[in-house]
Amino acid sequence: MITAKFGGTSLADAAHFQMVRDILALNPERRFVVVSAPGKRSGEDTKITDLLYRCHREAREGGDVAAAFRPVEERFREIVAGLGLELDLTEEFHATLWAMERGAGQAFCASRGEYFSGRIMAALLGLPFIDPAQCVFFDEHGQFDGDAAQASLSAKLRELPGAVMPGFYGGMPDGAVATFSRGGSDISGAILARASGSAVYENWTDVSGVLAADPRVVPSAAPIGTMTYTEVRELAYLGATVLHEDAIYPAKMAGIPIHICNTMDPQAPGTWIVANSQEPAGAITGLAGRRGYSAIQVEKERSNSEVGYCRRILSCLERNGVPFEHLATGIGSVSLVAPTELLDRHRDTLLEDIRASVHPDSLQILDGLAMIAVVGRGMAGRPQVASRLFSAVGDAGVNVRLIDQGTKELNIVLGVDETDYQNAMNTIFQAFFPQA
Ligand code: ASP
Repeated sequence: MITAKFGGTSLADAAHFQMVRDILALNPERRFVVVSAPGKRSGEDTKITDLLYRCHREAREGGDVAAAFRPVEERFREIVAGLGLELDLTEEFHATLWAMERGAGQAFCASRGEYFSGRIMAALLGLPFIDPAQCVFFDEHGQFDGDAAQASLSAKLRELPGAVMPGFYGGMPDGAVATFSRGGSDISGAILARASGSAVYENWTDVSGVLAADPRVVPSAAPIGTMTYTEVRELAYLGATVLHEDAIYPAKMAGIPIHICNTMDPQAPGTWIVANSQEPAGAITGLAGRRGYSAIQVEKERSNSEVGYCRRILSCLERNGVPFEHLATGIGSVSLVAPTELLDRHRDTLLEDIRASVHPDSLQILDGLAMIAVVGRGMAGRPQVASRLFSAVGDAGVNVRLIDQGTKELNIVLGVDETDYQNAMNTIFQAFFPQA
């Protein structure tokens, strides 16, 4: 059995719904289907979910909710008509608008995109419709309850030959709708794959897999064939976003491989995400990066023999609510890397606090950094990865300001000046993927 989840661009209009039906027909094992809300049909278009958030805003501000809801209703009517379905959703559209006008919650409003998308897909495929409000449970604080969802959903699925379930939302104990964060239908897909005991979780999107680097920065980046759950998380952390990062956990729990596929090119090999790959790995699998970091640099002579020195610096960050992502130490120096945006809110109080707590010889914040994560299961225990990496950036004239390597030798993180970011990313890519 296979669970197949389709993203918003794969469901943008009636023609795309038909493409989805054709893809499902190619393999009868694809019996469990999760859908997003229809996404953009073109660059200037608006996603249904964004239109629905707008409806909620209008309702809260006493605006014209009916006018805001009209384009949503029209999009769905167009899809139903384009598919030639005998599905009349008129009453449900009225009931939805009625609820919105009477103050329905934001999550309920946002979830209606997936709900109607699911209703239409179920009618198109002739499969039962499952409403996640009744089986994908969130607790009273809005936290997803994985065990409760697994128990209820797997019991329900046992009686069904297949099913269509909307993504993105579930229900709280009082019956109210709750949603995952944006892009959360990926999580719903993983939940359904686990509950249905599927052998594969297919995630159908509009690119042919996870690319080895962001194509806006490295235009020649190609899709990765196979990678591990851990590598996806490592890359996602610095911005590679094909899959919602919380979608990994349910699949990993059940050991279900995730196959990222392209609806617009169903024959493309895509990317397999697995627990342990048997395939020989290259030295690196991919790289990701992001601008907008700052390093807080604290220097004090003989601080290496001062017990509790680092803890006092870290307490300052904690007190000021500044998260840090990397910590590099030298003899007498500590450098902490944090996103500039989060640091900016507390910059002055944080500096004062550090000065008062550890009396450093010098304290400064270095802004304008970009962090680059070079990720690969193949680098563990393999000599010369670092030398190749650093000679490449060195030859390209890029000055490395900071280095950090995770304990499992799965990644090397570099900090470079933002002005060197693009050059560094392309240079590293060429050094490890010369044929691309
Ligand atoms: N429709 C939701 C969003 O736009 C969830 C999803 O598509 O995964 O974020």
